[in-house]
This record gives sequence, structure tokens and C-alpha cells, in this order.
Amino acid sequence: MSSKDARPRATDTKKVHIADTQLTSKNWYKHVNWLNVVLILGVPLSGCIQAFWVPLQLKTAIWSVIYYFFTGLGITAGYHRLWAHCSYSATLPLRIWLAAVGGGAVEGSIRWWARDHRAHHRYTDTDKDPYSVRKGLLYSHLGWMVMKQNPKRIGRTDISDLNEDPVVVWQHRNYLKVVIFMGLIVPMLVAGLGWGDWYGGFVYAGILRIFFVQQATFCVNSLAHWLGDQPFDDRNSPRDHVITALVTLGEGYHNFHHEFPSDYRNAIEWHQYDPTKWTIWTCKQLGLAFDLKQFRSNEIEKGRVQQLQKKIDQKRAKLDWGTPLDQLPVMEWDDYVEQTKNGRGLISIAGVVHDVTDFIKDHPGGKAMIKSGLGKDATAMFNGGVYYHSNGAHNLLSTMRVGVIRGGGEVEIWKRAQKENSEYVRDETGQRIIRAGMQVTKIPEPIPTADAA
Ligand SMILES: [Zn+2]
Ligand SMILES: [Zn+2]
Repeated sequence: MSSKDARPRATDTKKVHIADTQLTSKNWYKHVNWLNVVLILGVPLSGCIQAFWVPLQLKTAIWSVIYYFFTGLGITAGYHRLWAHCSYSATLPLRIWLAAVGGGAVEGSIRWWARDHRAHHRYTDTDKDPYSVRKGLLYSHLGWMVMKQNPKRIGRTDISDLNEDPVVVWQHRNYLKVVIFMGLIVPMLVAGLGWGDWYGGFVYAGILRIFFVQQATFCVNSLAHWLGDQPFDDRNSPRDHVITALVTLGEGYHNFHHEFPSDYRNAIEWHQYDPTKWTIWTCKQLGLAFDLKQFRSNEIEKGRVQQLQKKIDQKRAKLDWGTPLDQLPVMEWDDYVEQTKNGRGLISIAGVVHDVTDFIKDHPGGKAMIKSGLGKDATAMFNGGVYYHSNGAHNLLSTMRVGVIRGGGEVEIWKRAQKENSEYVRDETGQRIIRAGMQVTKIPEPIPTADAA
């Protein structure tokens, strides 16, 4: 070691973070983040108990719902889409409003929330994701807050832009005052000064409303990574579902959101529920928000098509497309003819021999018709000489392949086999893609019946 390092080595004195130690019956209480337990479990519980002797007045109920939307939108339109993702710009009055009502949701400061959320997007589903659903649904919902986490294990993100926003910095420094004032005092003041229901305002519009807003927005980390479809990418956990959207003020189109995080929308269809998007759009009309970011639908549709293609590939891989030509045995023409004479139902089409013994009785064109092709070159008959067979017929035929003919047809068939191998488009797993009309037995122009016999 270098001699200049005379200080005691940091590693000697560095304590192991509690989150990095095994949870046991003796140390479990050290693993618990008791402040958060009080904030997200204790306070709501006290609200539920107080609700027993505080009657709920209609006006207070309506006010609680309104304030639920105000504070919820402070999180979704403010904390999330404005500060964590910069999906639009807001004027100073709107930023102050969002920082205030967002603080009333009691989910931490903007600075803390946005830093974790950026890590969540950057390291989705990994150990560096602060609320990875891979650690369990309950963990992603609130376990990550109730249990202590080693902050050094959370992925690093750049929040220099947030440190330059005076509203964010002020809210972070005065967070506790903001929480008490916006979380409890304001809802109580409105109900108290408005219609004299001080205690009701405190319990319903304050405490219980905080509980509902918290649980609703926590669903973005849990439910939105667990329930629904993945129309854009299925490699990670984010999902789209209308139920999550209804619960989270429109944050439920989470598969889209993780693909296009800086889009101010989460729902891209007009009929999907995204009140956060509607709020941002309305603020723009009022001159409070500007520079709303939106991905071109061309880019969005590309992602959708690629995911569809992946699903199609998976479906295709499960189907029987017949033995590839280059894996089939080569047959002599005479051998082929001989075998049919001995009663085997072989038919050669485009140089590929098919065993139709078990199919003769099921042939839609009748037994006689198919039997007339046995032991002959039925290429032209099959391709319009007698009957122009359907795409389905070519597909079915390919599953009956048993060999390729040597001799006249062989070179041609060999070329086709090469073509099938090299020129045919393959999907990402290497499976051949046989499109309609591209089967080897399909001859584009009817050819005159070969006089093989
Ligand atoms: Zn997410
Ligand atoms: Zn996000």
C-alpha cells in the first residue's frame, strides 16, 4: 500500500448497512424503517379509528375527493411527469402549485421521489431498481419503504436539473413544514372555515385522503408492473391495464410509459383514462404549461409491430411446417414408382415426395382424383392442371413430405432446398418463415403435365 495513506483505512471502520445483513428474529426491528411505518401505516390507522366517532358530512366528503385529485395530480402531473421525466415545462406558478399539492400527498420530497423514480426507469427489474417487482408485489408496493434500503445499492441517476429548480430545492429543504401544512392543515382549514367541520376535515380530507392517495400512487410501482398487457415490449415487467389507470389517475399504461418515458401522455388513445394527461393539456391551454413532449406515432407503432412480430414468431414456432427439404432422404424415380406399385400412397409434386396414404380417404376432391396422381409427377395437376389447390392444401402437403427425387428433379429441388435454407426469411430464433404462396410445392405458372410415366 502507498505510504502517503497514513489515515486509518476507511474499510476498517465502515459499518455494514443493516439492509445488507440477514433478517433474523433478533434484529428484525432494526431492518424496519419506523418513520415510514408511522407515515404510511400508523397515521392511516389512526384516521380509521378516529373515523368511528367523527361523522362524515357530505360537503367534507366532496372536498376530500377534490383534494384527493389535487394531491394525486401533484404526484402524477408534478413529481412524475414534470420533474422525474421532464415531459413538459411548467411556469413558476404551476410548479409552486404542483410542489405544494404534491407535498400534500405525503410521499417524500420531489428531489427524493424523482431520484428514485429515475433509478427505477434506468434499472427496471434489477437490484438497482429501488422498487423492483422482482422482489415481490408487496415489496414493490410498500415493502421498499417499510423496510430499510441501503441507499448505495440504488442505481445512480443524474438529478442536476432538479438541483437547479428553486421550487424543488425549497420544497426539499422545508419538506416537513410542507407536509404538515398541505397534508393536514389546508384540508382542515377549508372544511373548518367553509362549513365548520374542523375535525372532519382533519380526519377525512387530511389523514384518510393521504392514505388513499398513497395507496393509489403506490400501485404504479406494484400493480402496473404485474397486471395487464405488454403491447410494446415484454422483456421487462411494466404492463398496461385500465384498472391500474383508474386507480392511478391515468398512470396505468405503464408498458407504454417505460418505452416512451418522456412522453407527457401515458394513454395515447382518446378513449383511455388519463386525467393526468388531460390536466397537463388543460394547463397548456391556460398558458401554464408548454413544450409538451410527444413521440411520433410512427415510432410508437414500430414498437407495437415488433412486439406483435415476436408474438407471431412464438406462435409460428409451435406449428408443424414439414421437414426441411435438406433433411429429407433422396429417392430414385424408379424406387418412387416401385413403392407406389406396392401399395404405398406416394405422390411427387415439384420433385418432393409426399406420403398421402392416410390422407387419400380424406381428400376433398375425392379418392379417385388423388389416386390418379400416385406414382406420377403430379406437379402440374396439383398446381392448376387439374385443380388449383388452395394455400391450405400446400401447407397440409408440406407436413406429408418424405423425400426428394433424384434425377430430373433433383438439381432443381436441391436448389429449392438451398433457397428454402438461405433465402427464406427467418425469424429472430432462426425459424423459417413460410409465407402464403411461398411453399416449395407452389409453382407460380401452371406447367404442362410432365410425361414421366
Ligand atoms: Zn415502472
Ligand atoms: Zn415514470
